[in-house]
Amino acid sequence: MSSVLIENVIKNYGAFEAIRDVSFEIESGSFVILIGPSGCGKSTLLRMIAGLEEISGGTISIGDKVVNDVASKDRDIAMVFQNYALYPHMTVEENMGFSLSLRRIDKATIEDRVQHAAEILGLDALLERYPKQLSGGQRQRVAMGRAIVRDPQVFLFDEPLSNLDAKLRVQMRTEIKGLHQRLKTTTVYVTHDQIEAMTMADKIVVMRQGVIEQIGAPLDLYDRPANLFVAQFIGSPAMNIIDATLDADGAYTADGIKLPMPNGHNDARSNGRLVKWGVRPEHLEIADHGLPATVDLIEPTGAETLVLARIGTTKVVAASRERQTLEPGAAIHLAPLGDRIHLFDAESGLVI
Ligand code: ATP
Repeated sequence: MSSVLIENVIKNYGAFEAIRDVSFEIESGSFVILIGPSGCGKSTLLRMIAGLEEISGGTISIGDKVVNDVASKDRDIAMVFQNYALYPHMTVEENMGFSLSLRRIDKATIEDRVQHAAEILGLDALLERYPKQLSGGQRQRVAMGRAIVRDPQVFLFDEPLSNLDAKLRVQMRTEIKGLHQRLKTTTVYVTHDQIEAMTMADKIVVMRQGVIEQIGAPLDLYDRPANLFVAQFIGSPAMNIIDATLDADGAYTADGIKLPMPNGHNDARSNGRLVKWGVRPEHLEIADHGLPATVDLIEPTGAETLVLARIGTTKVVAASRERQTLEPGAAIHLAPLGDRIHLFDAESGLVI
């Protein structure tokens, strides 16, 4: 396995800048997820690593080799696509061994490697079947099997679970993570699903409009988002954000409600500064004292209860582990946890 190094990479489609000077490293053996809203450039970046898309500037290295001018087939990568791209006229066994037979690897070795991958993926009993005789999850496994038999330096996944139903996604997510833990092959995985990113990645690269907004371990991004975009993109339900103005003794909403400052942030020099005050739903507790709020709706999910409420005119969500029997219109108090409050500059969006 190898590391992948992206240095000052640019991709232009005519005048449109799809990737704008992006640099980061994917360490050898790690599982890195590229995430961001539709059109942010994550697939483009993955396809450039794969060699399926030319780069307009910068360098991409796999291991210690610059691969800018190396053809995709010579990059020692294996890619798993969203639509599986299985050959319909070949059996599972033939699909999995096909790339090896193209390389003129001897039959016995191919059989061995296919058998090994089939065992890892629980496909042993299905080797003689054709893709149309398989479920969506089984097809996805065959697509992964095809990648595994090649024993590549790097696995590249492009939204591999997006065609599966919700339950199967969760199951395959666990399988892919388990597979990575066993094989330790360097993996780059594109998704727009933040739960996938949080649960599977060693490191998440959050992208927006062709640039990287933040790179970090899942819980680092969750606990210490560098800006408003990452704060609201990671986490579901999303972080509550309230517009406020800093004053000598705190942050005030337009409704005149005083919001507590994050611990260690009592900086009076910031007088008049417009900010976005944030707290995650699970860090907003129903309490005897706190911010006055009015309940709009209660959503029990089983594990927790979402309390949809308004602080002044701003809608917020509090996630309570207690079951709640509040009625719409009820007056409550919501207490934010002091060391879990985030403050962002309203103009730049950067954390303060
Ligand atoms: P999605 O989640 O919707 O797949 P993405 O983040 O993977 O989105 P990309 O497919 O990488 O996005 O596309 C990035 C941007 O580049 C988009 O705005 C897209 O319209 C544009 N783009 C991609 N391919 C081309 C192309 N061949 N010509 C022109 N523009 C393109």
